[in-house]
Amino acid sequence: MSNTQSRRDVLAGGASIAAASLALTPSTRAEPGSSATETAFNIRRETFVLGARKSDWDALRRRLRGPLLLPTDGRLYEDGRKVFNARIDSHPLAVVSCLGADDVVTCVKFCAANGIRATCRCGGHGALGYAVRDGQMVIDLSALQSISFDARNKTVTVGGGAFWGQVDLATCPRGYASTGGGCPQVGVGGLAQGGGLGPLARSCGLTIDNLVEADIVTAQGKHLARVSEDNEPELFWALRGGGGGNFGAITSFTFRLHPIEPAFTAGTLRYSWAATRKLLQFFRDWMRSKGDDRLTLMPVLVFNQEGSPSSLLSVFYNGPWQSGAQYLSKVLRDFGAPDSLSQSLALTTLPSFTAAEASCAWPGTAQIWKSGFLKNDFPDAAIDTIMESFEKAPRPVNLRAGNDPTELKPPNLTFAFIEPLGGRIRDKGSSETAFFWRDSLFSFTFIGVYPPSDTSLAEKMQSWTTGFRSALKPYYSDGVYVNYLQDDLPNWKYAYYGDNFHRLRAVKRAYDRDHLFCFPQDLLQS
Ligand SMILES: Cc1cc2nc3c(=O)[nH]c(=O)nc-3n(C[C@H](O)[C@H](O)[C@H](O)COP(=O)(O)OP(=O)(O)OC[C@H]3O[C@@H](n4cnc5c(N)ncnc54)[C@H](O)[C@@H]3O)c2cc1C
Repeated sequence: MSNTQSRRDVLAGGASIAAASLALTPSTRAEPGSSATETAFNIRRETFVLGARKSDWDALRRRLRGPLLLPTDGRLYEDGRKVFNARIDSHPLAVVSCLGADDVVTCVKFCAANGIRATCRCGGHGALGYAVRDGQMVIDLSALQSISFDARNKTVTVGGGAFWGQVDLATCPRGYASTGGGCPQVGVGGLAQGGGLGPLARSCGLTIDNLVEADIVTAQGKHLARVSEDNEPELFWALRGGGGGNFGAITSFTFRLHPIEPAFTAGTLRYSWAATRKLLQFFRDWMRSKGDDRLTLMPVLVFNQEGSPSSLLSVFYNGPWQSGAQYLSKVLRDFGAPDSLSQSLALTTLPSFTAAEASCAWPGTAQIWKSGFLKNDFPDAAIDTIMESFEKAPRPVNLRAGNDPTELKPPNLTFAFIEPLGGRIRDKGSSETAFFWRDSLFSFTFIGVYPPSDTSLAEKMQSWTTGFRSALKPYYSDGVYVNYLQDDLPNWKYAYYGDNFHRLRAVKRAYDRDHLFCFPQDLLQS
């Protein structure tokens, strides 16, 4: 361990305790006329309580264009440290909302000079909330939302803090799109470094397959512009599948665009629980048949408001809507799909489709994610295990509203889905980019969702998700999609990266020797 590292560890540890206690005691702040931060800091430690001297933080604040939030900033800091998954309750040293690459460089240099570790944040949708860590600086990029459409080169250049929905809104009305996720609020920053599965992935490749170049601020505080196949190729290789937050702060991404139809055949078919086994068999068999890549089907298992399980099939066809409607009818018939209870297929645009999917976005909830690639030849027994385990999901007490009709009860949002891969995703080999699991066909994820205040449900959810995952062990392959991180994977390095791990670690060492960008599953962790 280098001197820099050991000092950083000491500071980060001390700082996190101080940060937590300061956040709980806003009353220690400020007599009129005194410096709030100085008062608070000096009570507990003399100089380096928050990783740097108060005068250094003041100087940093003056140099930045965007706001710097410290634990002494009360409500603003409390809001600034939140991530999408309310199970995460981290107390960073500071949160800086960067207004440009210059702010990012300033933050990185400040961290390096003061032995502080950092994380980056874009949409805050990471499953384990690694964008915000105790005792570290959050370099928040979410204000970097510029989007520029280049008609001549058929590319779109997007700030490192944009959400994918914004990208679709900028490109789709012009007749183009690139592969994003299924949920418009997910950040481009995280999604685009782990892979990027969404309604266009089977026909246009993963998000990373459409990445043309990226601008990145490294741990040395260097702003590398236009990292690409020709410029810093090893870093560019790693950015495509190496997972968010490892190599530096990406301030902009340029993606290749594909021409799209003005509207698509898309929507949802709903099924009873009794029909779900047949639905999953149908989906599996069609996926193995190497059908038209333009069709994306995704089965989802859900609970209704009363707590009974049912399922739905999300449908998107990336081609002329008439062909989509015809092909879908044929596939449903030829591969033995069960009768649906209802359907909401319609002529729809890509942004409307993903906005409808986002009704599954659950801000304010705590979540436990479990995921893995199912073996491509998974048998019916896997389907039975999935259904039997899903049925046993713990539900919030009093799902139905009680006598008081105004009383709000938490809906049961726990759900599961099988994302389809295949199609153009298989065009690249497993070491052509850092995304190793190119041959997988099915990513099966289940998410236990609960109100963060319900500790009893949290415990039940923990044991249900763990039991569910171990029941699936015979049917899961070794791989896990790196955008669905889990904290209890015994061999996460192989699970996320397969044989690409050691090459990725070498890139991380080359660009972040002192381990400035740090989180529990970063590429330098033992
Ligand atoms: C509701 C929901 C829907 C989802 N749907 C999909 C989907 O359809 N397809 C799919 O593939 N995935 C999906 N995901 C998973 C998602 O891709 C990952 O969780 C992703 O990491 C989120 O990125 P973010 O920027 O929102 O999150 P953040 O938590 O901000 O970031 C995630 C990681 O990336 C790093 N990071 C973020 N931005 C940058 C940047 N600009 N530079 C450097 N590092 C950065 C962070 O440090 C962190 O380690 C979904 C997640 C949720 C919660």
